[in-house]
Amino acid sequence: MANNKERIEPTDTIRVLLALRRNKDNRPLDPDHQELCFHQVIRDYDTDLKLLKVRIASYPGIWRIHRTINSRHLQRARIWMLKYLIDTDGSYDYRIETLWKKALMKHPIKENMLIDIDSTDVLIYTKVKNILEDNKINIVKESKSPNGYHIVCPIFDTRLILNIDDVGYKRDGYIFIEEVKVNLEVLCEKQGHDIYETDWGAAVCKKCNKHFGWWCPDRPDKSKPWCEYNWETHGEDCIYCGQPEERK
Ligand SMILES: [Zn+2]
Ligand SMILES: [Zn+2]
Repeated sequence: MANNKERIEPTDTIRVLLALRRNKDNRPLDPDHQELCFHQVIRDYDTDLKLLKVRIASYPGIWRIHRTINSRHLQRARIWMLKYLIDTDGSYDYRIETLWKKALMKHPIKENMLIDIDSTDVLIYTKVKNILEDNKINIVKESKSPNGYHIVCPIFDTRLILNIDDVGYKRDGYIFIEEVKVNLEVLCEKQGHDIYETDWGAAVCKKCNKHFGWWCPDRPDKSKPWCEYNWETHGEDCIYCGQPEERK
């Protein structure tokens, strides 16, 4: 990764990746978890996609990664940001990068549009594709999203797709890239589960809620405070504390 730096050509425009953790994709979402959104400015697509995945890896849940359909106007974003910094107090002094991303998001070069098909019905997809083809409209990029289809085209007369059920469009939207599931239990496993005894005697992890069985008061290894069984030597009783597996 380190030697990639020399190979990146400067460009006038730039696109942005977004990772979203939304309530509607994460039902029921733990009350401790909030909706989250991270932006990653793309300099080198593969590297930046990896970096974004590293950033979301410690936040459990279902994430959807998207990319802006339009590149951003760098010069206008720069001027807007400089003016913003001059005109306001120091509220962005410790997060200049956040302000830069905000500046980029505010300044799309409106070349493309997103057709958002909010249905997995392949007939609707085919209908839209045929309309585009009949009108000689190029498809810049397309992807299958969890809810349907995303098609990116140069700006066209949107009356062509008006009144088709489940089909909408956006002048500056995001195309779906992929869904990433960050598994809390696996994550917690790596960090070491923090296990406590519930009031009904179970051993449960405070952080990820994983159940380990009955809480064992006598197990010597305190990092694994749950009962263990060995049918051949101890039958149905815990090999440490002797309490039966079937408890009331
Ligand atoms: Zn855990
Ligand atoms: Zn035990």
